[in-house]
Amino acid sequence: MKIILFDIDGTLVKAGGAGRRALDYAVEGMTGHKNACAEVQLQGATDKNNFENAFRAGAGRKPTARELAELTRRYVDRLPQEVKASVKARKYLKVKGVEKFLSRLSSRGDVLIGLGTGNLRDGAFIKLEPSGLMKHFAFGGYGCDSHHRSEVLRKAVQRAARLAGAPVKESRVYVIGDTHRDVEAAKEAGYHSAVVLDGFGDKALIMRSNPELVEKDFADLKPWLIWLGLEKDPRGVRRGTYICPDSPIEHAHYGRTGMDLRDIELGMKKLRETKRKATGK
Ligand SMILES: [Mg+2]
Repeated sequence: MKIILFDIDGTLVKAGGAGRRALDYAVEGMTGHKNACAEVQLQGATDKNNFENAFRAGAGRKPTARELAELTRRYVDRLPQEVKASVKARKYLKVKGVEKFLSRLSSRGDVLIGLGTGNLRDGAFIKLEPSGLMKHFAFGGYGCDSHHRSEVLRKAVQRAARLAGAPVKESRVYVIGDTHRDVEAAKEAGYHSAVVLDGFGDKALIMRSNPELVEKDFADLKPWLIWLGLEKDPRGVRRGTYICPDSPIEHAHYGRTGMDLRDIELGMKKLRETKRKATGK
């Protein structure tokens, strides 16, 4: 049994800033401070962290436990209305190909699909509701489980193990997100990691975090299925180190799929072309 965990924001859907607006509204209601989220880096963090930071931006101090609970209540109350507003303004979007990908995975008996998200449980359901994707997810790890994303992922895997009725090995868990924080959390927990670039992540930070697979979105399912080990690599390549044929020095470490060979070969072609131009040979 393989466990596949999906982040929500920027990986499954883009809610058109609904979460940010709901949090701004909640902070303003409690502190009078407008647009608190403009001062906070929200992407890739857990809601718990974001709520504390947004409150701090508004009130100039950490919230008490009671204030944090009140802020959470106000956020969850406001969120449905903000999600609806995004849908109405046509700013609520599904990441390309995600529906097809999830249907494909759901039809298999050898995978369990869950959420691994910084969103609170209630917030996650509210944000996903208009997408119709919720039916694919039987379990999850949420922002209310922990401040730490790796802990959120571990919680999701514990719940998956309970569903499967058997322990789950780390090497059977695949995490899909849209920021370097998703990748770092997956690595910290010992899980596989992949990223969609069409979300909210910073490409340079994503590349530095070195996920096993980087794709724009889910429009082409082949690399995803190969990465998950659900389809055979067309080149028969296994994860590891690929030595470029031209030089023992120019080698590229890759931990992705044989599909990457295409990119490496294109790179080598360019390199040869540049060499030819420079040396005339
Ligand atoms: Mg995300």
